[in-house]
Amino acid sequence: MRTVPVVRNILEANQRLAEENRKVFRDAGLFVINLMSGPGAGKTSLLERTIDGLRGQVRIGVIEGDIQSTYDADRISQKGAQVVQLNTGGACHLDGNMIKSALEPLDLERLDLLVVENVGNLVCPAEFNLGEDMKVMILSVAEGDDKPLKYPLMFQTSAVLLINKVDLLPYVDCDVKVMRERALQLNGDLTIFEVSCRTGQGLEAWFQWLREQVAMRKAKGDGAKA
Ligand code: MG
Ligand code: ZN
Repeated sequence: MRTVPVVRNILEANQRLAEENRKVFRDAGLFVINLMSGPGAGKTSLLERTIDGLRGQVRIGVIEGDIQSTYDADRISQKGAQVVQLNTGGACHLDGNMIKSALEPLDLERLDLLVVENVGNLVCPAEFNLGEDMKVMILSVAEGDDKPLKYPLMFQTSAVLLINKVDLLPYVDCDVKVMRERALQLNGDLTIFEVSCRTGQGLEAWFQWLREQVAMRKAKGDGAKA
């Protein structure tokens, strides 16, 4: 009986902080993505590819969420992007307050796109708004086509699903058609890209989608409502 109101209060407090973050992002004219996946699906690899693919077109900043280490932030920094490492010290997801605390070192006025790389986890990151415009998730074919059945909230809250590591399809038991169908049954509005961050296959369509989203955010003007 006691745990239910406590959980609700945490989520309510988080929602308030997420709205504060959203106002900061809108004032800066930023398009903001909350990038989620299980561990090892390819979040950081996708970011490395995306920074290279949009260099000179879209200025990208990254907040790297990890339980510990600066390993991923170092990879992003080597690509020349603004990056902040957020170590959760054990927590398995990011929340609005953590994002608020990570914004200070970033020069938001010199960014077009901010990507928050969430902690690798297919469960609770989906429950916490950070102030993002959209949640984007990655599922690799190595994880299997049953994951939409097992982690539905992730698919229901995401606007985009990137199916990664399609170069591994000859070697794994995964039916991409089944994966797509199961994901779309949960969320008929999902935009789906099939990509390989290793070979580069399919990434241009993702880059083009990002260019369009950033342009739409700019067209709405600083401080505009979605
Ligand atoms: Mg990573
Ligand atoms: Zn968690």
